[in-house]
Amino acid sequence: MEVEQQNLNIQTTQNSRLSEIDWENLLFGKIFSDHMFCMEYVNGEWTKQKITPYENISLSPATSAIHYGQSCFEGMKAHRNEKGEVVLFRPYDNAKRFNQSAIRMCMPTIAEDLFVNALKELLKVDHNWVPKNPSHSLYIRPFMFATDPYVGIRPSESYRFMVFTCPVGSYYSEPIPVKIETTYTRAASGGTGYAKAAGNYAAALYPAKLAQDEGYKQLIWTDAKEHKYIEEAGTMNVMFVMDGKLVTPLVSDTILDGITRRSVVDIANDWGMQVECRKVEVAEVINALKNNTLTEAFGAGTAATIAPISSIAFGNDNYMIPPSSQNHFHVKVLNYLNDYKLGRVEDKFNWLVHI
Ligand SMILES: *Cc1c(COP(=O)(O)O)cnc(C)c1O
Repeated sequence: MEVEQQNLNIQTTQNSRLSEIDWENLLFGKIFSDHMFCMEYVNGEWTKQKITPYENISLSPATSAIHYGQSCFEGMKAHRNEKGEVVLFRPYDNAKRFNQSAIRMCMPTIAEDLFVNALKELLKVDHNWVPKNPSHSLYIRPFMFATDPYVGIRPSESYRFMVFTCPVGSYYSEPIPVKIETTYTRAASGGTGYAKAAGNYAAALYPAKLAQDEGYKQLIWTDAKEHKYIEEAGTMNVMFVMDGKLVTPLVSDTILDGITRRSVVDIANDWGMQVECRKVEVAEVINALKNNTLTEAFGAGTAATIAPISSIAFGNDNYMIPPSSQNHFHVKVLNYLNDYKLGRVEDKFNWLVHI
């Protein structure tokens, strides 16, 4: 079926794959919903907005994004609330951050309303792909890349913006063992660490693989200059409860400004908990682990929401963290965030956008 709506052309599929999905075993990032959104940047404006069946795309081998990495993305989720409605969690925050990434990568920005509308229209077409199981959700991947077929380093003149979605279950099934990285670096001051730029993640693969070979699930990055301060994990911000206070590194140009982190900080403040967003020294965390004043450590990010950390390795030592229990802050905040997205509690922060 083909519909023309303002500037958006919608072609829906005749062969939905919905009935083939094993909803109880959703492999993260491997199942793609029926449709995708696409638009093209030419002559200084976004054109040719369309929703089509999810399909392969054809590109010139000289496509500049493939060679020089002018590419950035976002990651967010839609949930089906208790009334059966589909809601997006803080999508304007993702739109803003997408534009910050785009500016840093010398790419065009997208009006926030255009960005959010693209998601809404796509989700309207694929609303049946938003899982009914309250612990599952629809992961949304908006992304943009340079499309000039040109060998030479300069900002591309043409770009493509696309969105596809994946129904997903939980990301980590268990608390994760992590290692504090003091050799390799994810981001340096003045660099691109705060942007969701494709190349950042490629550069992190090798150190992460070395850590995985040693049995760790994730790295905790430290600052590039002295390896003295805690930064963040691979795709999550890190947070600690020390002396009953929520402590997390202050975001900077080397730390991605996570929306989950921001939400957890807002909730902690609202609950009257003491919150410290500041530089966090590795030595402080190690001392707190040694004298048992560190009671919780967790990652915060869209994919996992809250990922409890089971142990932190530093040098030759490995420190265990007490197992999660119902009165821990990270367990309460995870339950609250889940209830929030499912519409079981009031939307007091105005974070939800209905499609
Ligand atoms: C996406 C991401 C996060 C988490 O951000 P959210 O908005 O909470 O998903 C943290 N660190 C890095 C490096 C990321 O790419």
